[in-house]
Amino acid sequence: MSALTPRPGIMKIAPYVPGKDSIDGKETIAKLSSNEGALGPSPKAMEAYAKAASELHRYPDGDTSKLRKAIGRHYGLDPARIVCGAGSDEILNLLVRAYCGPGDELLYSQYGFLMYAINALGVGATPVAAPAKDYGSDIDALLAAVTERTRIVCLANPNNPTGTYVTKDDVRRLHAGLPKNVLLIIDAAYAEYVSKNDYESGVELVDQAENVVMTRTFSKIYGLGGLRLGWMYGPAGIVDVMSRLRQPFNVNLAAQIAGIAALEDIAHTDASRTNNDIWLPWLSDELKKLGLAPLPSVGNFVLVGFGSKERAMAANDWLMNDGLIPRLVAGYGLPEHLRITVGTETEVKAVQASLARFVAAKK
Ligand SMILES: *Cc1c(COP(=O)(O)O)cnc(C)c1O
Repeated sequence: MSALTPRPGIMKIAPYVPGKDSIDGKETIAKLSSNEGALGPSPKAMEAYAKAASELHRYPDGDTSKLRKAIGRHYGLDPARIVCGAGSDEILNLLVRAYCGPGDELLYSQYGFLMYAINALGVGATPVAAPAKDYGSDIDALLAAVTERTRIVCLANPNNPTGTYVTKDDVRRLHAGLPKNVLLIIDAAYAEYVSKNDYESGVELVDQAENVVMTRTFSKIYGLGGLRLGWMYGPAGIVDVMSRLRQPFNVNLAAQIAGIAALEDIAHTDASRTNNDIWLPWLSDELKKLGLAPLPSVGNFVLVGFGSKERAMAANDWLMNDGLIPRLVAGYGLPEHLRITVGTETEVKAVQASLARFVAAKK
């Protein structure tokens, strides 16, 4: 008798390590490790969530029909082509399970979001990373890495943890170069923060193709990461596949109710975006003045280069000692960097002051 063994690939997964949420023996001044949205959830979402308490014995709407209608209304999309999930993580996982298996390849960019490789290994497929250019996704390198085994290409746009983005022309060029039997997943978790004329979230491409989906989340600008809510917009054929594969009640009742309220609170979303528009450039400029190397970012976070692994670790310890939690990104192959979420005014100023003391101490 042979021993109990998991399916191939699973033991190759390095478990995902979430951003730290506390500091041993220290009060946390700011958790800036998971890009959770500086202003927290909308007060209207909190109120809707509280009201849902008396309904917790009810199964949620398995069809998420009100939520999909609200998303459709908000973003100008056909609700019939929206699928909701327990975070966009679940959507990404289901897409990989649906279209990828043993012997297949899932292609993504070096420094791309870690969950893509984890999902590929989970179904016995091979994750393939195309080399990045200036830390960003390189369309030519991605196209050059496509083989007859490629089944899925994952493009985070903007990308986490680098904060880089790919222009709409380049996303279209990537799609145009892919065989029709390859699925292009555009993960637009940070789309709401981007205000560049040459950026589009992916909706337009989904509308023109049978092999493109766009994924979105309520965990970032909407500040509902704790509830786990994400969605995708895709062609009818892929929506049909997802409706067969997903669990019947994959989006919990509280998430559905709070998600609708969050969408309706436009003032809160605008305030969150404005906070980022002010404090992302401010923090980047201040870090440059300190001689550090923040990458140009269009998300609600900044990847900061410290020049060496030792110095990045020292800066991490220094910030933590001041009650500020950044994100280590060595798991992404970026040991010389830290990722820092753009928080509130008080929080970004605390980061600036802490790192100014770090640099002054010649650390
Ligand atoms: C945060 C993040 C997600 C996951 O979001 P959830 O909806 O919370 O699962 C997906 N993709 C990228 C690039 C992210 O940074």
